[in-house]
Amino acid sequence: MGARAAPLIDTFKRQISYLRLSVTDRCDLRCTYCMPEAMRFLPRKDVLSLEELYDLANGFIERGVTKIRITGGEPLVRRDIADLVTALGKRIGNGLDELTLTTNGTQLAKHADALAKAGIRRINVSLDTLDEELFAKLTRRDALPQVLEGISAAKDAGMKVKLNAVALKGVNEGELPDLIAWGHAQGHEVTLIEVMPLGDIEEDRLDQFLSLAHVRGRLEQSWTLTESDHRTGGPARYVDIAETGGRLGLITPLSGNFCAGCNRLRVTATGQLYPCLGGAERVDLRAALRSNDPQRNLADALAQAMMIKPEKHDFRMEERGAQPAQPRHMSMTGG
Ligand code: SAM
Ligand code: SF4
Repeated sequence: MGARAAPLIDTFKRQISYLRLSVTDRCDLRCTYCMPEAMRFLPRKDVLSLEELYDLANGFIERGVTKIRITGGEPLVRRDIADLVTALGKRIGNGLDELTLTTNGTQLAKHADALAKAGIRRINVSLDTLDEELFAKLTRRDALPQVLEGISAAKDAGMKVKLNAVALKGVNEGELPDLIAWGHAQGHEVTLIEVMPLGDIEEDRLDQFLSLAHVRGRLEQSWTLTESDHRTGGPARYVDIAETGGRLGLITPLSGNFCAGCNRLRVTATGQLYPCLGGAERVDLRAALRSNDPQRNLADALAQAMMIKPEKHDFRMEERGAQPAQPRHMSMTGG
């Protein structure tokens, strides 16, 4: 892929500018809505090497990707993660507008300074509850203090922290106002996400699903929510909350489909490109990378991805019941 290679545009004329790159499918937590306790992880030999991830990311930058989010599994459990972020950080201002990362925060205290130094300005931390007992139940690990320490280290290192919480019926539902108020008091933006039916878990998805329209209605009983025209190019829609002085993002893949403006692609840690989070369509970039003519084969694979990127996902649970929309877990594609 040369420096003047054509931009990536799909058959619905959507231009791709955003790559979510998973660097591992492994994780040190076991969030009940994401994976089962006995999750089977991929053999390490199948996972892309640091060099392969770097080459791939650069290939996307040459094709017009200006934002890369490193994700996982848990990206900070990958041993060489700081090297990758440092190397990619050198492309900020040189093809890349933004390099960012999504983490569960357990290892963040250790990495915050290096991430900030590499050029990461904004980081997403997933936090579904501030209640230690509920956190342990939800993630099946007793790690809330580490996560809070990580969030505070990220802030001290100068990064803007955004907290992401998955809204779960009857689980953290009652706690969401406290989480939002705490986040805003700390100066963090908070975004709520509807749970998506991806991968088999030990619980029934139908029991977990909580519509954000419902959550919003509940919040409006005690707070003043005003529609915000803030946009980040992503699926979130925002409201300002007068009482907390902060902004709340709402991501509604089920109750409000947002695919028309989709600008993103997802690559798993094994180099499988999924043009849609909710679709089965896939292109094998690892095979292209490991072929005799990686440049040409990658270009062909990306052209194919543009052909097969579907118009929209379908996460509706009514007909499917508790069956997942796709068998792969969110930890494969990184959200
Ligand atoms: N381990 C990191 C973390 O938790 O931030 C990065 C990967 S995780 C898969 C990315 C995001 O996906 C997290 O915010 C997590 O809460 C969310 N997530 C996982 N499974 C989900 C599901 N089934 N529906 C909606 N969001 C989910
Ligand atoms: Fe791990 Fe993130 Fe999935 Fe939780 S949501 S199990 S932290 S990958």
